[in-house]
Amino acid sequence: MKCVHQTADRTTAQLLRGALESEGIAIVVQGEDLAGAAGELPVGASALYRVCIVDDEQLPRAARLTRGWLDDHAAALAAEPWVCAHCGERHDPQFRSCWRCGAEAE
Ligand SMILES: [Zn+2]
Repeated sequence: MKCVHQTADRTTAQLLRGALESEGIAIVVQGEDLAGAAGELPVGASALYRVCIVDDEQLPRAARLTRGWLDDHAAALAAEPWVCAHCGERHDPQFRSCWRCGAEAE
């Protein structure tokens, strides 16, 4: 089993798995079971998730898709939620205008 990406961020691992599975590539996220025990981990410990492909023959394609996906999502993943300057509504970074008052994100 080959791993195409590793991350400490569970959401990233799951989103990447979804993206690759939608391309017909079977994915196993290793380390996922650590999340269930997260409350018991010592303070400061961080889980590490590995996104791995089941069929090694898909590695070249999976690696290429992973690079493209990471490029596309790097900005969004790094973005913080924003607060509308007009009405104070809070939004996730993928929304670029306020759903309440229609103001654009700054
Ligand atoms: Zn607003």
